[in-house]
Amino acid sequence: MLNIALFGPPGAGKGTQSEFLISKYNLFYISTGDLLRKEIAEKSKLGMEAQSSIASGGLVSDEIIVQIIEKTITDNPDSNGFLFDGFPRTYIQAYILEGLMLKLNTSLNCLISLAVPEEESVSRLLNRGKTSGRSDDNEKVIRNRLREYNEKTLPVLQFYKDKGIFEEVNGCESIENVTRSITAIISQELSKSLFNIVLFGYPGSGRGSQGKALAKHFGLEYVATGAMLEQEIAANTATGRKITELYENGQLVPDEIVVQLIEKKLASSKDVKGFIFKGYPRTLVQSYILDGMLKKYGSSISQIIEIEVPTLELISRLDERSKTNSCMPYDTSTAKIVKRLQEHEIKTVPVIQKYNQLHGVIKIDGQGSFDEVFARISAAIENGFKHIR
Ligand code: AMP
Repeated sequence: MLNIALFGPPGAGKGTQSEFLISKYNLFYISTGDLLRKEIAEKSKLGMEAQSSIASGGLVSDEIIVQIIEKTITDNPDSNGFLFDGFPRTYIQAYILEGLMLKLNTSLNCLISLAVPEEESVSRLLNRGKTSGRSDDNEKVIRNRLREYNEKTLPVLQFYKDKGIFEEVNGCESIENVTRSITAIISQELSKSLFNIVLFGYPGSGRGSQGKALAKHFGLEYVATGAMLEQEIAANTATGRKITELYENGQLVPDEIVVQLIEKKLASSKDVKGFIFKGYPRTLVQSYILDGMLKKYGSSISQIIEIEVPTLELISRLDERSKTNSCMPYDTSTAKIVKRLQEHEIKTVPVIQKYNQLHGVIKIDGQGSFDEVFARISAAIENGFKHIR
């Protein structure tokens, strides 16, 4: 998740900059001012309580703010991230935001302050008042809003300076220049967050060989659960011995074991740019597990790719492979191959469908040479990097 707070006095340009940022980074926009005006328009109880504070240019109580903001945040846990405009405005609200982010297992990436001198704010707001229709855009109320800002809101900056996530931009520059400065800060932030790819495809689609090569090319960690299980067996660990026992009894390796191995991999992968998951998640249950594990690291799935190959070609590829040294123990007979294809169809295709509905799945034509398919997937990943970073 990418969570950003835009900070600055009234008239600093937070709303204007927000419009661009929410579309570029696909963020869920939360403007407490807009939420309050909506409550007032709907004549709700909260709206009625907030009305007089807004009209006088004072701040609405933290109790009201926490109620309107909590609902909006918790109703949208799957968003790509949040862009806060006009929040937090008090020291208490900074703590409230911490708590709410924690609840979603995430945190604020940074607070970007648009610095604008007082007289510039006043003149911008007076100008806006000619067309905004906002009753609080008049000089008396504006002065009061700025007083509130100086007394109650400015001290919030120290909270974020202490946390080391405070950034300042000169808000007097042109709109384009301010946008450019903000984008540079966010790009820097994003380069710190993980880029995670889930690579799907039927057995024989080339996801293993492509996944490994792509991970190397893009500097990502390759997470192939099948290979991780093999490693445990080879290293003769307690888990490896347990897995052997399960294999010998023809049983599936339970999620508990796989989860522990992935957790171990995530925890031990320091300073990585992200992960490519191959062979996981294979079931709907595993897709929830993966979401949960990534969330624990303040991360999520960035891109989902499916390599598509016609069934007849899959069978012919797997059959070819069974005659070579890279024959897998599960590819030794036609019956086993068909069983694997069926397993994918029954258990994994619903996962792909779920992801397609939620985030969109990029379909890649898996026919042709290794290099051709590699080039197609790489182009999609590069595009993803550009779009997300
Ligand atoms: P804005 O649209 O952000 O300029 O907000 C307009 C008015 O709504 C402010 O002057 C405050 O009265 C009220 N308001 C908006 N956000 C907050 C907040 N986070 N805390 C307290 N009052 C707020």
